[in-house]
Amino acid sequence: MDALRLLSRSTGLKSKISRTLPQNIPSASGQAPVQDVSEPSTSRKRKRDSDAPEGDDNQPTNSSQPSESEIRRIHKKHKIKIVDLNRFRAISKSSESRKTQKEQSRIFPQPLTSFEQLRADYGLNAALARNISDQAYFEPTEVQIATLPLLLMIPKEEQRTEPNLLTVAPTGSGKTLAFLIPLIEKVSRAHRRPGAVGERHVRAIILAPTKELVFQIVNEGRKLTANTGVTLSAVKKGMRLFDGSTHSNVEESGDDAEVNGSEDVKVSPKSSAIVKADILVSTPLSLVHLLCPSWEEDEGSPPRPLPNVESLIFDEADVLLDPLFRSQTLAVWSACTSLSLRVSMWSATIGSNVEELAVQTISDRQKKLEVPRSQRPPLIRTIIGLKDTSLPTISHRLVYTATESGKLLGMRQLLHPSRPTSKVKRQDENTPPPRPPFLVFTQTIARAQALYSELQYDIPAQAGGSSRVAVLHSSLSQHARSSIMQNFRQGKIWVLITTDLLSRGIDFRGVNVVVNYDIPTTAAGYVHRAGRTGRGGREGGACVSFYTKEDIAYVKGIANVIVASEKTHRTPANTTQSSDGTQSKGIGSSATSEMIQPWLLHALPSVSKSARKALKLHGVESRRAIHADDDEKTKRMKRKARIGTQSGYERRETNRKRGALEGSLRAKTKALHQREKEDWEGFE
Ligand code: ADP
Ligand code: MG
Repeated sequence: MDALRLLSRSTGLKSKISRTLPQNIPSASGQAPVQDVSEPSTSRKRKRDSDAPEGDDNQPTNSSQPSESEIRRIHKKHKIKIVDLNRFRAISKSSESRKTQKEQSRIFPQPLTSFEQLRADYGLNAALARNISDQAYFEPTEVQIATLPLLLMIPKEEQRTEPNLLTVAPTGSGKTLAFLIPLIEKVSRAHRRPGAVGERHVRAIILAPTKELVFQIVNEGRKLTANTGVTLSAVKKGMRLFDGSTHSNVEESGDDAEVNGSEDVKVSPKSSAIVKADILVSTPLSLVHLLCPSWEEDEGSPPRPLPNVESLIFDEADVLLDPLFRSQTLAVWSACTSLSLRVSMWSATIGSNVEELAVQTISDRQKKLEVPRSQRPPLIRTIIGLKDTSLPTISHRLVYTATESGKLLGMRQLLHPSRPTSKVKRQDENTPPPRPPFLVFTQTIARAQALYSELQYDIPAQAGGSSRVAVLHSSLSQHARSSIMQNFRQGKIWVLITTDLLSRGIDFRGVNVVVNYDIPTTAAGYVHRAGRTGRGGREGGACVSFYTKEDIAYVKGIANVIVASEKTHRTPANTTQSSDGTQSKGIGSSATSEMIQPWLLHALPSVSKSARKALKLHGVESRRAIHADDDEKTKRMKRKARIGTQSGYERRETNRKRGALEGSLRAKTKALHQREKEDWEGFE
C-alpha cells in the first residue's frame, strides 16, 4: 500500500500542496513590508564578510507596490485579518463600538505573494531560499503570505522594527515554515553583523509542548538551515548552557541528520561542551531543568539569564500558557533578558484569556526591564480564517453509540467496513469506505493501552496482523515512542492509538481518519485532534467522534465547532446521529451526507462553565482511573466504562481460531478450484 508511505514528512516528496493562488494576486515585488512605512528598498549590494556563509550575496531589488485597495482585496481573499493590538487597546477605552474599534485598529501590510519575493525583496540568505525551493515549497500558504512580511526585515530598512506577534491560523496551514524562515534569516544576519563573526551562542528559543513536536521542528529546521551557517538543536538531558555550570549544556548541532529522539540519551558530562547551537528547540520543562537546576524543589527559583536570546517562539502557544505548562514557560520567558527580545506565538486556537495573559506579560516585562517607550516594538495579531474552527477540507461525523461497548463495535466497523449486501442502492453508496491510516484518540493512557489490547489482532495476518496496530503514549520509553512515530510515518503502522500527546502540531502527512474514541475535553482539543488529517491542503480527511449517553452533557461544544467549520465547507459535512443507540448507520462506508441537524444542536444541553472546567481538568469521570477512596457507585460506573472484557489470552485464542478457520476455508476453496481445473482445463 504505497499510498501509506505518504505519511512520512521525510520522503522527499516533491509535490507538496498544489495550492492555487489566485492568478490575479498582484505579482508585485519589492514592496516594503508594511504599507505605512513603505520605503522603497534599494538594490544596494551587501558587503560580503570574509567568512560569511553561503548565501550572503543578497541583492534586494525593488519594483512597484500594490495599492492599499489591492492589498485589502488580497487580505479579504485569503481571510487574513491583521490588528495592531496596541492601537486596539488604546482605542478600546473610547466610546466607539467594538466593531468600529476593531476596524480602526486593522492594518494592511504588504502580503508575500510568491517565494521569489523572499530573495528579491527581503534579501533572503541564498542558501535558505534554495532550501525552500528544494523542499518543493513553491507558493506561500495564507499564514505565510500574511506573516512573513511582518517578521522579515528589508536589509538596511531603519523605519520599522520587528513586532511581537500572535498568530492564529488553521491546523496544517504551514505555521512552522512561517516562523522558521524569518528566524533563520534573522540569525544568519546576526552572524554577519560587524564584530559578530565567529561569535557563537544561543540566539533563539523555540518552545513546543511535546518531545515529538520538538523533534519534528528540529527536522524541518535542519532542512532549511543546510549551508546557511545557522545551527539548531533539540535540548537534551545533560547539555550545558553555561560556562562552569555543573549542569547540562548544549552541543553544537549543525548536521543534517534527522532526529527522532531515539538518540535522546543523556549527553555524557565529559563531552558536554557549552552549547553552540544558534537555535534551541525544547519542551518548557527540559529547558527549565537547564536554567533552574533546583526547579523540582522550588518552582519559584529564578532561572539563570540568557541575555543573548533575541527571539522566543511559542509553538502551540495556548498549551504553553495553559496552567499545566504556564510556570515553566514563564520561567523560560523571564530568563530571556535582552531588551531587544521579540516574542511570537502560534496556534490554531488562542483564546481571549491566553491572549490577555500574553499581552499582559509582554507589557509587565517591558516595565520591569525598563525598556524605553521608544524601543517598545509593535504588538500585532494575525488571524487566518475563522477563529477556533476546524479545516473546511475535513468531513466530520458525530456518532452516538450509547454505551462504551457500542464504541468498540463502532471502531471495528470502521476498521472492517461491511460490503453492501442489499440490492437497494443506498444514498451513500458512492462514499468510499474509510481507509487507513487511522489515528485514534482516547482520554487516558490506560484506555489507550486497553483499546490497543482489544484491537491488536483485528488486522488479518495476511495484511500484516498485529504489527499494523500500535499504541503511543508518554509512559513508553523515548526510544519506543520514536520508533512508533517513524513506523507510522512510513506506513508500516495502520492504526495508531494514542492520547492527546499527539493531538498538537504533529504532521503525519497521510492520516485519512482521526477517531475520537473518547471525546476531547475541550472544543480547542477537537480542532487540534481533527487537524491531524487534511494537512497541507489535502482533501478527503475525516474525523469520527463517538459519544455515549454520558457524553451528551459535553457534546455541544464539539457540535458547535463542526457547525462553524461546515459554514466554510464547500460540501456539507458527513454527520450522522443514531437515536436508537446503535452505530449501524453513518460509520464505515455508510456515512450519510447531511449537516448537523438543527434539532440535535437545540436538543444538546449547554455546558455550564464549571462543567467545562472540570471536563478540561479531569476528562469524563467514568473514564478516569479507579481510586481507593471512590465510593462503590463510582467504582461500578468506572468498571462499566472499561474498554473490552476479554483477557489477552482469550483474544489470542479467538484470533488463532479465526485464523485456523480462515486457513481451512482457503484450503477448501483452493481444492475446489483445482478440481474445477482438472475437470476442464479450458481451450488452451
Ligand atoms: P501547522 O504548524 O500550521 O499545523 P505545518 O507547519 O506542520 O502546519 O505544515 C503542514 C504541512 O504543510 C507540512 O507537511 C508542510 O511541509 C506543508 N507546507 C507548509 N508550507 C507549505 C507551502 N508553502 N507549500 C507546500 N507545503 C507546505
Ligand atoms: Mg504547527
